[in-house]
Amino acid sequence: MEECIFCKIANGLMPCMKVYEDEKTIAFDDIHPVTPVHTLVIPKRHIPTLLDVGTEEMDYLSAMVTAVQEVARIKGIDQRGFKVVINCNEEGGQVIYHLHMHVLGGRRLTLKDKLV
Ligand code: 5GP
Ligand code: ZN
Repeated sequence: MEECIFCKIANGLMPCMKVYEDEKTIAFDDIHPVTPVHTLVIPKRHIPTLLDVGTEEMDYLSAMVTAVQEVARIKGIDQRGFKVVINCNEEGGQVIYHLHMHVLGGRRLTLKDKLV
């Protein structure tokens, strides 16, 4: 997946503002934040969309949940509260076709803070 921008970030071929990393995931700040905290959590394996998560990919999804918890703690929004968004396919607003969770927080969020 040479042309995938998030694979490049995961492989250290493109710079990012890294927040957290473990064996299966990496988390980094979104380049165009829509909230005071806007961090992306991605699997180190190229999984295009949420629909591509099957039994074999489930380890990566659970690792992403752990990574979200760590990001929330690192950013100091775990107790205040935060929102997690996965956009899937065109009408879901997905632009980058490498699975990612948006971790949004740092101010009071509303339903309008879902990403388009
Ligand atoms: P999507 O719409 O696919 O759910 O979200 C993709 C997100 O990736 C967007 O919020 C966008 O700002 C972010 N993004 C796109 N390219 C880059 C990049 O090169 N670096 C970082 N850190 N974020 C990116
Ligand atoms: Zn990728």
